[in-house]
Amino acid sequence: MKKASILIIYTGGTIGMSRNESGALIPFDFNAIEQEIPAVKNLDVDISVHKMEAIDSSNVTPKRWCELAHIIADNYVNYNGFVVLHGTDTMSYTASALSFMLDNLSKPVIFTGSQIPMGILRTDGRENLVTAIEIASSTDEKGRALVPEVALYFQNCLFRANRTSKHSAEELSAFTSRNYAPLAEVGVNIKYNESAIYKSAPYFEPLHISDSLDENVIVIKLFPGLSPKSFRAMLSIEGVKGVVLETYGTGNAPTSAWFLDALREVIERGVAVVNITQCRGGAVAMHLYETGQQLEDIGVISGYDMTTEAATTKLMWLLGKGLTGKALADAMSNSLRGEMTTN
Ligand code: ASP
Repeated sequence: MKKASILIIYTGGTIGMSRNESGALIPFDFNAIEQEIPAVKNLDVDISVHKMEAIDSSNVTPKRWCELAHIIADNYVNYNGFVVLHGTDTMSYTASALSFMLDNLSKPVIFTGSQIPMGILRTDGRENLVTAIEIASSTDEKGRALVPEVALYFQNCLFRANRTSKHSAEELSAFTSRNYAPLAEVGVNIKYNESAIYKSAPYFEPLHISDSLDENVIVIKLFPGLSPKSFRAMLSIEGVKGVVLETYGTGNAPTSAWFLDALREVIERGVAVVNITQCRGGAVAMHLYETGQQLEDIGVISGYDMTTEAATTKLMWLLGKGLTGKALADAMSNSLRGEMTTN
C-alpha cells in the first residue's frame, strides 16, 4: 500500500527552537526532521516540509491566514494531510480562520505547537508533532481521512480547532474546548470520537478557498466600570462593520440607557454586533434575563456558544463575502463549520 504523504507547514512559534552545540536556542531544522526525531521514521509516512518565514504568532495577521490557506490549496492534491506548526499564542485564531476559509475540505489540517521548545529535553513538541502527523495520515478502511477537518492537537487531545482557546500560559495542556467534546483522546492508543468529527464535504470534492477577509471588526470585552466615553469611542472607530461583544454570563450587559443607545445607533447604521459570553464554557441565551433581552430587542446577534476566536474570524470572513443585514445575522447565528452547537 502506498505510504501517506503529509506536508508539514512550519510558521514559527516556540516549537521551532532547538539547542545548538553551545546550548543556544536556534531555529530547528525541520528538513532533517527524521534525523532529529527518529520516532517519525516509524510512522511509515512520506513527509515534506514547507517553511514560511518563522514568526512569533503574536505577529500573525489575517494576511498570514490567507498565505497559509493558499499553501494548503496549492498542495492539496499532492498530500493526504497537513500539519501546521504554529505558535500557541494565536493558534486558535489562525486555525478558526482556516476552518472558515477552506471550503469543501476533506483532508486533515492539524495545527500543533509546543509550550517548551523542541530542543529542550522536556519538550512537549516532539509528542505533539509525532501524534499530529499520525492523525493527519490516518484513514479508514476505504482510505478516507479519519479527521477531514481543521483540528488542533495538543497534549493528548485532538479538538475541533474553531472550538478551542488557549487557556494556560503554563500548563502543557494549553488549550481547551469547553463547549465541544474532543475529536480524539490519546493514550496508549488514539481513540477517535467518530460521531464528533465534522464531515463537511463529500470526499474528494475540489477544495475552494474563500480568502477575502474584512478586518473592520473589533472585540469589546465588558467590565464593570466601562465608561460611556470609552464605549462610544470604540463604537465610533471609522469603518467598523462588526463588533464582537464579550458579555457576562448567558449574554448579559448593562441596561443603562447610554449603553443600549450607543449600541442601537451602530446597529441602525448597519454594524453587526455579535453577543458572545466571556465565560469559557456555556452559551448566550439573551431571553433569560432582562439584561440580555434588551440586547436581543435592539438587534444584537446571538453568537451562542462560539469562542471569541471563532466569532471574530467568522465575522471577518462573512463580512469579506459581502454579507450584511439579515443574511449576515443568519449566517452568524448558525453553525457553518461546526463552530457552534445547534439543537
Ligand atoms: N509566543 C509564542 C508564539 O505564539 C508562544 C508559543 O509558541 O508557544 O509564537
